[in-house]
Amino acid sequence: MAGSAGGWWEYEAQVWIDGWCEPPASEWAPVLDKAAGKAFARYGSASAEQVDRAVRSARRAQAEWAEVDANTRSEILRAFARELENRHDELITLIVRETGGTTAKAEEELGQSINQLLNSATQLTENAGAILPPYKSGKISLSRTVPLGVIGLIVPWNYPMSLAMRALAPGLAYGNAVVLKPAELTPIAGGQVLAEAAKAAGVPAGVFNVVPGDGPETGRRLSEHPDLDLIHFTGSFEVGQQIAAFAGKNFRAAATELGGDNAFVVLDDADLDQAVSCALWSSLWYQGQTCITSGRHIVMRQMADEFTAAVVERVSKLRVGDPLRDDVDLGPIISETQLQRFDEGLVKPSIEAGAKLATGGTYDGLFYQPAVLTGVTPQMPVFTEEIFGPVMPITVVDSEAEALELVNRHRTLMNSVFTGDPMRGLAFAQKVKSNEVHVNDGYARHGGEGQLAGYTHRQWIGIQTTPTTYPSWASK
Ligand code: NAD
Repeated sequence: MAGSAGGWWEYEAQVWIDGWCEPPASEWAPVLDKAAGKAFARYGSASAEQVDRAVRSARRAQAEWAEVDANTRSEILRAFARELENRHDELITLIVRETGGTTAKAEEELGQSINQLLNSATQLTENAGAILPPYKSGKISLSRTVPLGVIGLIVPWNYPMSLAMRALAPGLAYGNAVVLKPAELTPIAGGQVLAEAAKAAGVPAGVFNVVPGDGPETGRRLSEHPDLDLIHFTGSFEVGQQIAAFAGKNFRAAATELGGDNAFVVLDDADLDQAVSCALWSSLWYQGQTCITSGRHIVMRQMADEFTAAVVERVSKLRVGDPLRDDVDLGPIISETQLQRFDEGLVKPSIEAGAKLATGGTYDGLFYQPAVLTGVTPQMPVFTEEIFGPVMPITVVDSEAEALELVNRHRTLMNSVFTGDPMRGLAFAQKVKSNEVHVNDGYARHGGEGQLAGYTHRQWIGIQTTPTTYPSWASK
C-alpha cells in the first residue's frame, strides 16, 4: 500500500493522533532513497501543540486499553504482526530504500519486528503477577503488574522499525499507550507504516500516536512532556544523557539505550579463519552502523600479521553499491553528515596521528569503501570514539592482560573474544565490563526475552481476611 499523497510521493509520514492523520505543522521535508539519492517520500513535523495533544490522547485512551481483556489485546498484537507480514515484499524494499541496508538487513529488521509482536502477544497472557507468602495470619498478599501509563518513545534511524517495536510491542501488550517520534531520516518504516498497521489491526484510537519531526524541537518537546510515565530513548550518548538528566530532575522513569565503543579481541590461540570472518561480519554488517558493531580490533602480536593480512584481503574484495542488488555486500552510508562525522572526524585524524590506511577509505557520494586501519594506538580517535561506520581499526597488544585493560577502558555494549580454548574465553569474558560478551562469536541478534519489568510496575495488594489486632491506643 502506497502513501496517501498521490503524485510522485510514494509515501508520506503523517502526524497520527487519536487514530487520525493530521496535516503537519511545518513544510514537508523529503525522505531520501539512500542509494538513489532521490526523495521518494516526505514528512512534516508535528507542532508543539500536536505533541501535547498526542500525549493527551494517549492518556485518555490508556485507561480503557489497560482494561481490555488479555486475550483480546493478544489477538490485536497478532493481527498487527499479520498486517506487517502481509506487506512483506513492499516493506523489505521500503526498509532497504529508507535505511540503505541490504535486503538481508531488511529481512532481519522486519523479522525482528514481527517476532517482537508475537512474543509480546504470548507473554502478556502468561504472567500477571503472583501471590506472596503470608506474613501475618489471615492476610493474603497479591502482587499484580500494572501498566506504567503513557510512554514517550524516541528512536534512531539505523533499525527504525525494530527499535520502535522493541518498546512498542511490550508497551502495548502490557496496557500502556505510546507516543512515538521516529527519526527524521526514516519516518516511514519507523512511523507511518506502524501507525497504519496498528490501526488496521484494531489498536484503539489514541493508544498509539506518531509525531514525526526533528530531535531538538519535536523530540525534546516529547521527552520533556510533563505527562509521560516513561521516556524510552534509543540513540546517541549525548542526547541520552540530556534526556536522563531531565528525567532525573523531574522524578520521571527513563530507559536509555545508547552507543558503545565495542571491542573484538583475538587471543594468540584463536582460529584465524573463524576470527576473520566474524570480525568482518560484526564490524561491517549494515556498514558498521549498529550499536553493537565491533569497532576496536585488539589482536595479540602472535596473530597480528596473519589476521591483518586476511582482513585486508577480504575487505578489499567487498562490493559496495545499490543494496537492492544481489551482488552487493554493503550499501550506502545513511547520510553525508554521518559519513563526514566518522571519515573527517575520526579516520583522517587517526591517519594524521600515524595510523596506516591498509585498504578502502575512499568514497563516491555515500558509497564508502570499507576501511582497515593498522598501527592504531589507544590514543587515536578511531579507538577512543564509537565509529558507527565501515571502518576496522587494528591495535596490536603483547598480552591478554593488556587486551582486557584496553577493552574495559571505554564504555561498551557488546564485546567479542576469540580463542582456541573456550574456558580461557569464559575467564576473559567474566572480567569484561559489559552486559554482553561473546566467546568465538560476534554481532548478536536480540529479541524474545520477557519484558514485563520494563513496561509495568508492581502493585502490592494486601487483603486481611480475618479480624486482626491493632495497638491498644488505636482501638480505645
Ligand atoms: P541521535 O541521538 O542523534 O538521534 C536519535 C533520536 O533522538 C532521533 O529520533 C532524533 O531525532 C532524536 N533526538 C535528537 N536530539 C534530540 C533531543 N535534543 N531531544 C530529544 N530527541 C532528540 O542518534 P542517531 O545518530 O540517530 O543514532 C546513532 C546512535 O544511536 C549511536 O550512538 C548508536 O550506538 C545508538 N544506538 C543504540 C542502540 C541500542 O540499542 N543501544 C541501538 C541503535 C542505535
